[in-house]
Amino acid sequence: MTILYWFRQDHRLSDNPALAQACTMAEHRSEPLLPVTLLPTEQTTDWGFTRLGEHRKAYEAQSLIALAGSLRSLGSDLHQPKTPGCEGLIELARQVNASCIVCESIHAPYEIDEIKTLTDAGIKVETIEQSALLPHDSLPFETSKTPTVFSDFRRQVEKAKSLPRTPLARPATLPPLPDGITGAVPYTAEIARPIRPTLDARSALPYQQEPWQGGEASGQAHLARYFASTLPGQYKASRNGLIGTDYSTKFSPWLATGAVSAAQIWQALQNHEATYGGNDGTYWIWFELLWRDHFRLMMQRFGRRLFRYAGLAKPPHQMVNTPPKHNQQGFDRWRHGLTGHAFIDAGMRELAATGYLSNRMRQNVASYLIHDLGCDWRAGAAWFEHCLVDFDVHSNQGNWAYIAGVGTDPRGGRRFNPDKQAHDYDRDASYRNLWSAD
Ligand code: FAD
Repeated sequence: MTILYWFRQDHRLSDNPALAQACTMAEHRSEPLLPVTLLPTEQTTDWGFTRLGEHRKAYEAQSLIALAGSLRSLGSDLHQPKTPGCEGLIELARQVNASCIVCESIHAPYEIDEIKTLTDAGIKVETIEQSALLPHDSLPFETSKTPTVFSDFRRQVEKAKSLPRTPLARPATLPPLPDGITGAVPYTAEIARPIRPTLDARSALPYQQEPWQGGEASGQAHLARYFASTLPGQYKASRNGLIGTDYSTKFSPWLATGAVSAAQIWQALQNHEATYGGNDGTYWIWFELLWRDHFRLMMQRFGRRLFRYAGLAKPPHQMVNTPPKHNQQGFDRWRHGLTGHAFIDAGMRELAATGYLSNRMRQNVASYLIHDLGCDWRAGAAWFEHCLVDFDVHSNQGNWAYIAGVGTDPRGGRRFNPDKQAHDYDRDASYRNLWSAD
């Protein structure tokens, strides 16, 4: 018998409670442990493009190659079945006579279906919570009763003094691999091919080069570097910046691939405040991480409803019981940065060229697609999924629904005036010039 540890989104060895649990089980049962990751299935969205774009593929490959290297340094390895998706995992589980698959739990519809596919195939699966900042048992309410308004959620967790868990250390050893699984990590051409697209020198997240590459070692180094600098104290003032690497933390790609955990960020933030003192800048990093948790809890609570055109809206909201409104030509112009609005087009060009976009520009381009071009917000969310190296289903779907006015925003949607936004955040047009078509 063998225990399979399935690396889903969290590509790290440190602070990985699910991996720690799998190791303990393997030791107690004297069973080998086989770490495994899955090739993604090629999926095309309803809007005619793939879910996984070139930047995401490249970033994911960096992250997995780093993970395989870390596992090898502890005498283990990372296996990747040639058959993509859960089918590959089912075949492998049968091949190695798996007693159990252990993995992190992910409360999003597609990921819930994956677990069901495995259990329907008769495989025992153990899932463990680990990706949120605040563990469920630290919350002052049932997850099914999470306040839908962010400010209520934040006030309640702050009042209850809910705290993240203490991060776990990196394991010093790992259980042995099963016999007969030679040549593990049959890295397919898909994963091992050279990293493309090439670096755009204007990138605010130049992940193609050190020190911005994906993987646990780079992510932990970035965390240490960021909190050893003066940037955290300036975060609240700088976070609406548009150009360069320093205006925001840039934790998101490492968080999305689980190279760094939210609990590790919190601990580094605590240490920074103990050394340098806290201020509104350092508080705001916690505040933003709470947004991340809130979107996770909203998806856990409302599930597939967040993927409907009407989202969480109820009658008499205009989007309930009306067919989805969409402007395909407008959408195509938007995603190619050809709307004719220089500020919006700059954002869409940056996104396509680099796989990253500041929060300010994400809000602007999303609002423009929905409220100015009259497109289905889910098409925009799908395009972000295709492009973003930090794609996270909870934060992406939640933010898009919020701006469309069908999420949890009590103000019923956010329209950003792009002219005013360009004036406020790009007064000298340096951002528009940087990403102009010429
Ligand atoms: P910072 O400003 O440094 O924030 C620190 C961390 O706080 C981030 O890494 C992130 O984990 C969290 N955070 C900050 N803002 C938000 C927010 N609005 N919602 C949730 N968490 C937040 N973030 C993703 O990680 N993945 C996505 O797919 C994603 N899609 C988005 C789509 C839209 C339409 C919008 C408006 C926002 C989206 N965000 C998403 C949230 C936010 O834009 C990014 O987290 C942020 O820009 C990442 O850069 P950073 O790490 O430097 O952020």
